[in-house]
Amino acid sequence: MSIKQFQNYIDGKLQAASNQQYLPVFNPALGEIYAETPDSEAQDVAAAVEAAQKAFPLWSNLPAERRAAYLNKMANLIEQQAETLALAETEDNGKPLWLSTKVDIPRSAANFRFFGTALTHFASEAHYMETVGINYTLRRPIGIVGCISPWNLPLYLFTWKIAPALAAGNCVIAKPSEITPQTAYLLSQIAQQADLPAGVLNIIHGLGAKVGKAIVEHPHIKAISFTGGTRTGREIASIAAPMFKKLSLELGGKNPSIIFADCEWDETLATTVRSAFTNQGEICLCGSRILVEKSIYDRFVAEFVAKIQELKVGDPLDTSSYLGAVVSKEHAEKVMSYISLAQAEGGVLLTGGKRVFPEGRCSKGWFIEPTVIANLSNSCRTNQEEIFGPVVTIQSFETEAEAIAIANDTEYGLAANVWTQNLSRAHRVAEELAFGIVWVNCWMLRDLRTPFGGVKNSGVGREGGWEALRFFTEPKNILVKYH
Ligand code: NDP
Repeated sequence: MSIKQFQNYIDGKLQAASNQQYLPVFNPALGEIYAETPDSEAQDVAAAVEAAQKAFPLWSNLPAERRAAYLNKMANLIEQQAETLALAETEDNGKPLWLSTKVDIPRSAANFRFFGTALTHFASEAHYMETVGINYTLRRPIGIVGCISPWNLPLYLFTWKIAPALAAGNCVIAKPSEITPQTAYLLSQIAQQADLPAGVLNIIHGLGAKVGKAIVEHPHIKAISFTGGTRTGREIASIAAPMFKKLSLELGGKNPSIIFADCEWDETLATTVRSAFTNQGEICLCGSRILVEKSIYDRFVAEFVAKIQELKVGDPLDTSSYLGAVVSKEHAEKVMSYISLAQAEGGVLLTGGKRVFPEGRCSKGWFIEPTVIANLSNSCRTNQEEIFGPVVTIQSFETEAEAIAIANDTEYGLAANVWTQNLSRAHRVAEELAFGIVWVNCWMLRDLRTPFGGVKNSGVGREGGWEALRFFTEPKNILVKYH
């Protein structure tokens, strides 16, 4: 089998890393190498920064409509190539093809379209001082910005950063996860097809510890937008904060799904299955701690487990597979180690807990059964640490106050979902939850205009809508005093 080879995109050109070295890329469903991606170095980042510096004056001074036209062209091209991109995402990440087709790729196009439109409506503030004068705020692009993204929603999260950064008039140095580089590589070809001016977008492949770090350390990169693990976020902040870089950090989560006895039963059940196991549980927003009111606990658990046992795990190209492979051998081992830990902590496996070896072409892939664990206290490691795989725990609560206390008892604060038909309770609980995002009677329903991000160890800053355009611009206040 011939191996695909990806390339960096610097100054408008596709090219190998300066050291000509490559890293292996695996197809998780097959458990084998299918491609190689550049193992770039700091000098590749430096070359990209030079190209971005050359491109910045032109790009930042283009009228908004012209920049918007480029972004819309990128969106159109993603839509036209959706089938290829969806297949690539599935090959690279292991997620079911139906999911790449339905969610990842349309959302990537939507990211460009949304910020392409938003930038033409972006206005800045004026503050009038009675009889004295008027302040107005200029919001200009920052310059060169770094965008670093993870492997779970590769093109979706990559474009969620790149699109607003470009829309605001910045030039971008972007790094996808080296575990899932394929759609980022295809995006560089799309940028070429869109005739994006050379140097405006540069995509460097390679390891976080080398390329990611070089982006964070580069003195001419003035802002870093990062999505990934909390530990990496802390490391990035320790380098970037003393350099006074602007930072947006979207980090891990340990999200509660809080289910009250008066919930709308069928929808709650169906959505809780989705929020637990979509994308193999590898979404930062997945509800991994399910809290159920005691009076319905037994019935809910029985019906939830029965539904999960119907979910098929297998070949991501098979439309009947609800779960595909987890992203890597290392990640599969990590998830399995948490299942062992949960049992050592006294957890009871209600369903799942084993690796799956499908028949046929996927027999060597990294598949794990959707797993539900009960009988654990909220303070144990299983309930406190992010597993980021198809593993959830289920606990009961008796009162609203207890549900809130358990939900908030975590170092994370990304997203929570609440299920109740009591309107007052919905508002009351939502207000008390220490999370950046609360969904009531739904999950992962997104409006791209809303602020997106977490509190506590789930990060700092917000993405989405005006928040993203504000992050990627530097405000300057100008006061004109009347004579
Ligand atoms: P990592 O933190 O390991 O990696 C994220 C990105 O950062 C990758 O491109 C990685 O490169 C790079 N990186 C690693 N080390 C450094 C470094 N020292 N300096 C700069 N860049 C670096 O996360 P994962 O890829 O494992 O993604 C999973 C995590 O992402 C989970 O914790 C999940 O919760 C979080 N996440 C958060 C979301 C949110 O919106 N809050 C959304 C989605 C995921 P490399 O791949 O080479 O290591």
